[in-house]
Amino acid sequence: MDEPLSKSQQRLRGRKLVEMTDDELLEWIDACEKMERGVSAAKARRSWKQSGQNAHEELKRRRMNETEWLACCDPGPMLEFLGDKVSDRKRRLFACACCRRIQHFFSDERSLKAVEVAELYADGLKDRVHLIGARDEARDVKRQFRANYAERQFLEPADAVVLRAAGAAQDVTRDTGMSAAINCYCETSRAMNMEDTNDCNPAELRQQALLVQCIFGNPFKPAFLDPSWLRCNDDTVVKLARGIYDEQAFDRLHILANALEATGCSDTEILDHCRIPGPHFRGCWVIDLLLGKN
Ligand SMILES: [Zn+2]
Repeated sequence: MDEPLSKSQQRLRGRKLVEMTDDELLEWIDACEKMERGVSAAKARRSWKQSGQNAHEELKRRRMNETEWLACCDPGPMLEFLGDKVSDRKRRLFACACCRRIQHFFSDERSLKAVEVAELYADGLKDRVHLIGARDEARDVKRQFRANYAERQFLEPADAVVLRAAGAAQDVTRDTGMSAAINCYCETSRAMNMEDTNDCNPAELRQQALLVQCIFGNPFKPAFLDPSWLRCNDDTVVKLARGIYDEQAFDRLHILANALEATGCSDTEILDHCRIPGPHFRGCWVIDLLLGKN
């Protein structure tokens, strides 16, 4: 077969989809369709078809609209849509939130410690040495668990859940927040399947998508802060927000909503978020907004 791809399409070969511009993705989709029609081997045809579908998915993620964002039941496309527009701190805190939801499966306190260290690291209260130390310990937990079961041919479903939880605790300490976020949501939602499977639990993914909304807010409605809310009534709002953050007392968010209203705040995005039952977690966008965190 003659080379059916144009020069610019050939240049896209081997490039990662996430690194392509929208125009390049469209060009790659065109290239994949051409190749799918042109090659004779079934395996190669399937491979081109898959690559074209992946490029379509990538474009779709980038073009998520507000309705799709709010209805999304999978953190993966949401995190990719946010991309580099959000902080590494928030991405790591999301990873921590996923781990906290399954911490009852941790078989060793070193797994929980890894999550605690990752939370403090995200807020600049632990340094990289601590993060790596916690990672090593979390890795040991996983290794020991594996070694205990090495003589068996397969893990019991309950053991697989514990192993996945241990893996997530290691993942939460990864070098970047994005890597921690992607790996933790996958591993913890698989753990919630209660068996040794690579399938994510859809109900858990939905809860994680709500956590994404809690931590990152609505990217289509940038948060607005009126500084007068902070100074009103002897800094009540800031004091409440600080207490909620430090004590992880998100059940007090409805009190914060009332205090905000008393300052004259009528922002429905903020007030409604404080009044939904959650899940809320460290990094909640309303608390971050009031405390000046990003
Ligand atoms: Zn929240």
